[in-house]
Amino acid sequence: MSLFKYFISIKKLLFILSAIVFVACSQKEDLPGLPGPIKDQSVLLEQAFPNQTGEFREGYYDNKPITYEVINGQYVYEGDMMLDKSRITSTPQNANDRTTSVGIIDRRWTDNMVYYSISPDLPNPQRVTQAIADFEAKTFLRFKERTNEPNYIHFIKSDGCWSHVGMIGGEQEIGLGDGCSAGTTIHEIGHAVGLLHEQSRIDRDNHITIHWDRIKHGKKGNFNLRTDDASEYGTAFDFSSVMMYHPYAFSDAKSGSGKQLPTITKKDGSLYETQRHGLSSLDVVALNTMYPPVQAIEFLPLKRFYNSNRQTYRYITGTKIGNAFQYEKTVGKLAPLQISGTQKFHHYININTKKHFYSADFSEWGRGGGLIRYKGNIGYIYTESGSFRKPLYRYYNQSIDAYFYTDDFDELGSGKNGYVYQKVAGYVER
Ligand SMILES: [Zn+2]
Repeated sequence: MSLFKYFISIKKLLFILSAIVFVACSQKEDLPGLPGPIKDQSVLLEQAFPNQTGEFREGYYDNKPITYEVINGQYVYEGDMMLDKSRITSTPQNANDRTTSVGIIDRRWTDNMVYYSISPDLPNPQRVTQAIADFEAKTFLRFKERTNEPNYIHFIKSDGCWSHVGMIGGEQEIGLGDGCSAGTTIHEIGHAVGLLHEQSRIDRDNHITIHWDRIKHGKKGNFNLRTDDASEYGTAFDFSSVMMYHPYAFSDAKSGSGKQLPTITKKDGSLYETQRHGLSSLDVVALNTMYPPVQAIEFLPLKRFYNSNRQTYRYITGTKIGNAFQYEKTVGKLAPLQISGTQKFHHYININTKKHFYSADFSEWGRGGGLIRYKGNIGYIYTESGSFRKPLYRYYNQSIDAYFYTDDFDELGSGKNGYVYQKVAGYVER
């Protein structure tokens, strides 16, 4: 048994404590269903008010210095994050109270639960459910449609795409324009759970060059380096972050031959790829740091044994098993108790052939009957994929009426030795 734990390395993904974010974008593609990668989009720049420039002002947001843009009476931060006007002042208030980290915890969603509702007039609402599926598959965050919970995200129809940063309390909107894709929705939800733009990280100047002279008039404020108003999480600078601007963000400069010039490059001047497929592996590291599992759980190794006399496999999480069974391998881990996303892994035996088999779906064999005897459950298995989980594949051999389970698809592939691939029986902890 091994203790399931998170070791969190301090990473550099910035995370604002108390700012509110508004994000805008303009994509035009429908996306395939999740799970699986979300199709990329041609436009990777989120903006609350596309093609508009406001007046940049300096002030204090929760007593932290900030540059923001005033557009259409809204206070916008870095193009797509909305600020709460009541928290902006022209001079620091109560300067003695200033801290650098207050708010990170306050702005997090409680117990990893994010409640939401979708405005009935939002076109293409499956953008939202696809984006949520990406978070639920990769992180410990869970999303639930709001009934009467006080704090929740409300997805509304908008011109641009935008969000607030972190849980701000009460209803907080995420705006989605017609051009905003599921990938952009992931970016927006990223803000709502506390992620900030990758290119504004404190260490960004070690990894990228901002070409200030090429930035569209009035948009330089979008490239400000975040300083003492944020904390950092994660590991390395991540060009593949779903929160990273693309190289041509807010570019207004052209070369002599009329070619658009980038505003952001790598230090060697080269371009880089950005994506809005979904959360990157380092986005996930940051989110798992901010939202670790709600409880520390000791997962149980699921061990596979083989009885060659009866040609049957048996799977146990304990240590007691008859001498007729030979240990083969551990195929993953089961939860010892019911936790979010898990289901009993039911154990059955055929009393005639003494063959053992298992299912997460109680409707398959239920309480048994005839030759099938229900033996209870051997632990709890996840019913959906997610980070730190792997599928447990199920095979069936009709000629000997026997089942086989493995975490390694290559063992039997699509079928071998009379065994035919059936399905994923569930997902086990790695
Ligand atoms: Zn953004």
